[in-house]
Amino acid sequence: MTAVMRAVMKIAAGPGLSLVDAPVPEPGPGEALVRISTASVCGTDTLIYDWAPWAEERIHPPRIIGHEFAGVVAALGPGVSSIQIGARVSAESHFFCGRCYQCRTGNQDVCRTVRIMGVDAEGCFADYVVVPAVNLWANHPDIPDHIATLQEPMGNALDTVLAEDVAGKRVLITGAGPIGLMCAAVARACGSTRIIVSDPDEYRLDLAQKMGADVVINPHVTPISGPVLAATAGDGVDVLLEISGSAKALSDALPLVTPGGRVSLLGIFKGPVPIDINNLITFRRIRVYGITGRKVFRTWTTVSRLLASRRIDLSPLVTHELPIEEFEKGFGLMRSGRCGKVVFRL
Ligand code: NAD
Ligand code: ZN
Repeated sequence: MTAVMRAVMKIAAGPGLSLVDAPVPEPGPGEALVRISTASVCGTDTLIYDWAPWAEERIHPPRIIGHEFAGVVAALGPGVSSIQIGARVSAESHFFCGRCYQCRTGNQDVCRTVRIMGVDAEGCFADYVVVPAVNLWANHPDIPDHIATLQEPMGNALDTVLAEDVAGKRVLITGAGPIGLMCAAVARACGSTRIIVSDPDEYRLDLAQKMGADVVINPHVTPISGPVLAATAGDGVDVLLEISGSAKALSDALPLVTPGGRVSLLGIFKGPVPIDINNLITFRRIRVYGITGRKVFRTWTTVSRLLASRRIDLSPLVTHELPIEEFEKGFGLMRSGRCGKVVFRL
């Protein structure tokens, strides 16, 4: 008899998710089976729940979703010697091929044939998930599982903030969703001397203050230019981190980057964004970085050390911990914006 497990699944094309019984998967060669203890919800999961155009194009149901987790190795497939059964782990959610030009030159974050857990492969909102052993990350003993699950999105934040150094720099973060909030924490830990966060949601601006923002701005109440210039002696910011995916946020913020400054773009826009490249970027010698995923495993190393040393404390960000049976409530919270990270317990 095949063993069964709980799994949150997109069972058919269209909005919604279902908690179902699914067979416990078996690890193949080079793979490990992980018993999940915590899994956290990402904005991407809500796009899949809502069946947004991106999800409709990319996801082929049935699919177990979720890609942020912590757990314990329960079984190993043939040929795996890099990790032991019983090890506490999380995982890089982007399954890189290891063979393409990008992978062979240390750029696995832009692997040409990447498969993403919970998107192109079965996900972790389940009792068990199978992961390529090379993607596993052994969790530090001082990082509890409800925080260890956040290492994956914190990696996005870390790469965005540290595309260049921020020590002594004045930083504007547009968007105080979970990743923008983690950016504030990373910028603070890494020596940024002025951290300005904008978001139209007052609940999230409160969280931004807890996570290290010096100045918070609600752009629906106050145009951001006044407070940003006031906080930077009229210079504008050295660094802009766009973490909202709002075209309006980018067009309001770009003129406030001081000439010679830097922009990192993580937010995903709904479509093409018109920008006056000549006047806003070229003539002001602005450097622009696109960020996707994380650097494997340089980012994980830094994230783990920042958390284990408590240089960064993400606990204020975990606003809700729910049993997996209450996944609908978790997704409702995500939709309302009245949450930081929602963590499911399995
Ligand atoms: P989120 O949706 O929870 O956060 C976005 C925040 O932006 C919200 O709090 C919203 O209120 C705020 N916002 C909306 N309009 C704004 C405006 N005009 N000015 C300032 N803030 C505004 O999302 P998240 O999980 O924190 O992710 C942030 C973004 O990063 C999303 O666009 C997500 O799709 C993207 N993302 C990208 C990658 C990548 O690899 N590039 C990975 C994960 C997430
Ligand atoms: Zn590759």
